[in-house]
Amino acid sequence: MEQNNLFDNTETAFALKSDSELERAYFLFKMISNEPLVRIGTAVTNFAIKAHLPVQGLIRATVFDHFCGGVSEEDCLPVVDKMYSKGVGSVLDYSVEGKEEEAQFDAVLEKTLQIIEFADQKDAMSFGVFKPTGFGRFLIWQKKTEGTDLTPEEEKEWRRIEERFDLVCKKAHECDVALLIDGEESWMQDAADDLVSKMMRKYNKDKAIVYNTLQLYRHDRLEYLQGLHEEARVYDFKIGVKIVRGAYMEKENERAKENGYPTPICKDKQHTDQNFNDTMKYVLENLDDISVFIGTHNEHSSYLAMELMNQLGIDKTDMRVWFGQLYGMSDHISFNMANEGFNVAKYVPFGPVRDVMPYLIRRAEENTSVAGQTSRELNLLSQEKKRRKL
Ligand SMILES: Cc1cc2nc3c(=O)[nH]c(=O)nc-3n(C[C@H](O)[C@H](O)[C@H](O)COP(=O)(O)OP(=O)(O)OC[C@H]3O[C@@H](n4cnc5c(N)ncnc54)[C@H](O)[C@@H]3O)c2cc1C
Repeated sequence: MEQNNLFDNTETAFALKSDSELERAYFLFKMISNEPLVRIGTAVTNFAIKAHLPVQGLIRATVFDHFCGGVSEEDCLPVVDKMYSKGVGSVLDYSVEGKEEEAQFDAVLEKTLQIIEFADQKDAMSFGVFKPTGFGRFLIWQKKTEGTDLTPEEEKEWRRIEERFDLVCKKAHECDVALLIDGEESWMQDAADDLVSKMMRKYNKDKAIVYNTLQLYRHDRLEYLQGLHEEARVYDFKIGVKIVRGAYMEKENERAKENGYPTPICKDKQHTDQNFNDTMKYVLENLDDISVFIGTHNEHSSYLAMELMNQLGIDKTDMRVWFGQLYGMSDHISFNMANEGFNVAKYVPFGPVRDVMPYLIRRAEENTSVAGQTSRELNLLSQEKKRRKL
């Protein structure tokens, strides 16, 4: 693979950060890199939130403001506009998780519809996004995936889930705003896959509006995509996919072990990387049928994607190829790629502080456990601090 050094440019990467914001980010990643501190911090924060202690100000001033755009979509606007001044778009992600009640699913539906409308009016936002379990109980998804009979009450819940899906996909189609549907645990995913492909058949007639997510830490996903590709040829629709490695590896492996079935996860990191890169290549070679959102913080995969696009003669600005990172992470990839003219959008999570805690804890834990990622952020931040001093 051609050696590249685009991501070494910290001036472009952190152009939007003031000196004090740079210091704050450095301090935060330093804290996150300390595993015992994250463990204790997580426990204390969870307790404090449950006990209604006044810790929200502290959370906002530290992790929240680094990884989230705000508590509401309006709150995120300064972040959205600032990033767009450097060519980086935003995917506003209402990151309220783990809810189990119908009123809460309706609230997520309303929020998603509003964001699609919002995106329709703002060039800085090309996508809407939601999680399948934001629209219905995990257990319903799981039962559907396992083929277990639903009770009459659960059947009604399932129908409401289908209705919510149809409403947001229809809205996205009307507004011509692409819609990303996140991938979750494998034991609920088949039901989501079936419903999302139904939506693709209905709303992706001319172009990809509805995007499913492929988690490439699963060894069966490229095969799944090839099957979907066949289906798309027969029924004449376009495919939209977000490709990621996957966020629930430990949970997947533990459940497989406990229940005595073979894990769906690739046998090691190298196989996941290969699977991700092979799938990316498959999609880029079939761009007439498949549009892609490449969600990764992996430098090698990002360099490889640029190289493949170059080899295949795909224009950097081709709207069928997007790159995405999470807000607060890997700015060296996002801002340098956008500066080169690629389509880039960052996921910007938002929501009430207490409700986005599961998301924040996942980010803290991921940055503690993913070897190299925190030290990489720290290195880049310290390089930029040094560069500014000079
Ligand atoms: C824009 C965006 C959207 C996302 N949306 C989703 C989503 O909808 N659903 C979702 O699940 N995740 C999602 N993620 C998270 C993503 O799946 C990864 O957890 C995260 O991006 C880290 O992977 P990476 O490609 O950046 O790179 P890397 O840091 O190179 O890879 C880390 C990943 O590799 C895999 N891995 C690590 N060790 C092993 C091992 N021993 N064996 C096998 N595999 C291993 C795991 O998936 C791990 O997360 C999203 C990420 C981004 C940036």
